[in-house]
Amino acid sequence: MAPRSGVAVVGSISADLTVFASALPRPGETVIGETFSMVLGGKGANQAMAAVRAGAPTFMIGAVGNDHFGRLTLQTLRADGIDTVGVQELDGATGIAHIRVDITSGENDIVIVPEANHRLAPDAVEQALRDLADRISVVLVQLETPLDVVQRVTEVCRALDLRLILDPAPAQPLPDDAWSGVFAVKPNETEAAILTGQPVTDQSSAERAARWFLDRGVEVAVITLGSRGALAVSGDTVQVLPAFAVRAVDTTAAGDAFTGALGAGLAGGLATPDALRRALAASALAVTVRGASPSLPTAAAVDAFLREHP
Ligand code: ADP
Repeated sequence: MAPRSGVAVVGSISADLTVFASALPRPGETVIGETFSMVLGGKGANQAMAAVRAGAPTFMIGAVGNDHFGRLTLQTLRADGIDTVGVQELDGATGIAHIRVDITSGENDIVIVPEANHRLAPDAVEQALRDLADRISVVLVQLETPLDVVQRVTEVCRALDLRLILDPAPAQPLPDDAWSGVFAVKPNETEAAILTGQPVTDQSSAERAARWFLDRGVEVAVITLGSRGALAVSGDTVQVLPAFAVRAVDTTAAGDAFTGALGAGLAGGLATPDALRRALAASALAVTVRGASPSLPTAAAVDAFLREHP
């Protein structure tokens, strides 16, 4: 394996606590639910899972609390082969997402409490990236992490010649100088619209949004379009990537599967169009399986899928 074939993910780690009930309570009401699940979550952790399954040596950089959920989330990351040396264990609580699913309508609501994720310190993240510089060539970051950390990650990636992929979710307007030094940005349509301030509804508006990012210094802008696939723009090249036809059962974590596989492909030495094709296949496979991390495919599954869908 190439010496810098690793991927570092700087991002959120949380415990997803989900209750399933046949009707959700109105304010002040109590209802008896059907089932409960507790799984590893956070966009950072999901993308680390996606990258390691896609075959890259994967290093998580983030923060958990010194509580039960901290130990549990770290154990889960390690069990999948993710290196967690860059995860700080801070005093206080681990981040959680409290999810309620109405099993009759399928609707859900979510409260996220960031806790340790919002106490992640830029200096610690910089040190972790510097320590990994001879093992990684790609860094993934999302926006569930404080903006001063994202800013520092961008600076360090520029200084160490690491390719930074920014998955700007949940979307929020960013300062104009946030983009220079970002190798690739990967918003979905909604996120692209929030970030660029223009509607994104079809291929031509997606291309316009992609160029907005390129004008600000991003090398590759990938706008994902759900069941319609994705559009990637770099310089004068526009790559239209129709989605693979699959039977979708749950689109949770489709975007995370895409980003993790893209990062793993680039770190493994693939050219950008080839890494994008693997990302498209990985995200198509992810929507065929229920849940977040259980749906993230292995490299072998993506290989087999691409053999069947040349
Ligand atoms: P997010 O999950 O971040 O909202 P999208 O919904 O745009 O992102 O989906 C990300 C990628 O997942 C798409 O670019 C596509 O490759 C894949 N995908 C999503 N929905 C489907 C589907 N119904 N069939 C095939 N691929 C899909």
